[in-house]
Amino acid sequence: MQDWRWPTYRPRNITLEQVVYENDDPNRGGVRVKASDGTVYLDAVGGIGCLPLGHSPKRWVQAMTEQMNTLSIAAGPFWTEVNQQLAKRIVDLAPVEDGRVFFGNTGTEVTEAGIKVALKATGRDVVIGFEKAFHGRSLGSLSLTANPKYRAGFMSTPGDEGERFASMNVVRAPFGDLDAVAKLFEQYADRVAMVCLEPVQGEGGINPAKREFLVGLHGLCRTHGALLALDEIQAGSGRTGDFSAWTTLVGDEVEPDIIWWAKALGGGFPVSAIVARGDIAAAMVPGTHGSTFGGNPLACRAGMVTLDIMDDDQLFERAGKQLATLQGIAAAQPISAVREVRGLGAMLGIDFGDAELVTKLIGATAQQGLLVTASGGTAIRWLFPYWADETILGEAWDRLGKAVASVT
Ligand code: PLP
Repeated sequence: MQDWRWPTYRPRNITLEQVVYENDDPNRGGVRVKASDGTVYLDAVGGIGCLPLGHSPKRWVQAMTEQMNTLSIAAGPFWTEVNQQLAKRIVDLAPVEDGRVFFGNTGTEVTEAGIKVALKATGRDVVIGFEKAFHGRSLGSLSLTANPKYRAGFMSTPGDEGERFASMNVVRAPFGDLDAVAKLFEQYADRVAMVCLEPVQGEGGINPAKREFLVGLHGLCRTHGALLALDEIQAGSGRTGDFSAWTTLVGDEVEPDIIWWAKALGGGFPVSAIVARGDIAAAMVPGTHGSTFGGNPLACRAGMVTLDIMDDDQLFERAGKQLATLQGIAAAQPISAVREVRGLGAMLGIDFGDAELVTKLIGATAQQGLLVTASGGTAIRWLFPYWADETILGEAWDRLGKAVASVT
């Protein structure tokens, strides 16, 4: 088939066509998709973590259809009931005191919002990030925007009076190395606006942070007056067993200052949200940020019905059990090439320690009727719906084993 798109993705040569439902349960979407050649695949990609309920559950479709027949779009300055409902619901779920929400559509947008709120609220310019981190791919829409009012405090271009060329400088530490972060704090002292990390690295190989590391970062941020910010785009929205991966890893003794979510939040419709503590969010006065589509009624309905279904079917709890279930299957039926099965809840990484093999496995698993993505070079990543149980995981493991056998 002629590909009319930019060649930004390595093509799989599979044209996905139609969800295949498991049963008549209206809360349960499909974990299988039919391709144009009639092949039905078991889908461990899930739009890369966007399908916590599976593809298009009937109750979700019905809610979205009703919302489209009511109101689809309202610009940011206007209130809608469903927008406020979802904002309040996320604030209640977020482990952030007195939170306030900004809505976007994609992960990258709320990462941008996280950076902007941290720079604005602290007036500082250094951000500490981590090796193997992934936070998005935006480059420079704000620098191209002409009106200096939008750029003030974030960035400027030559000729702007009294501004630095860039207001943000990123330094990086190894993930998990608290001493390295402490050294960066010594070096940059009161210039550090925030420490920003994925509590479970998604693209970097499915690496969960240790509790001591997260608590240690919290302590360093408090000592130095910096903000602790979490990108839970891939790990959050219930995937680890709680709404926030921070809660799963740390509990509720200490809280971060800013967290953002996307992917699974809309159950398959683009919705992203960032929560910052009220005193921090207060820095974002009118004009400092915006999104044309962010928080539209249709997106907010998607978020609400997704959370309703998660509540009704105890999906956080069920997601939380997936890793242990898969590790049990792996122990009972070992695949000798597998080095480690790791992750947290329904964020699963199967590490082969061999990037070449993993590249081959992308095609070989598809040949066995299983769709997967790679993560961190040497791991296969599974992001199944939260309800996926031993039967689904066992079937996927079986298909993976056959794929490994076909290429080794
Ligand atoms: N941050 C993390 C942790 C992600 O996993 C991703 C996407 O994979 C992003 C940010 C970027 O999100 P988006 O592609 O929705 O802009």
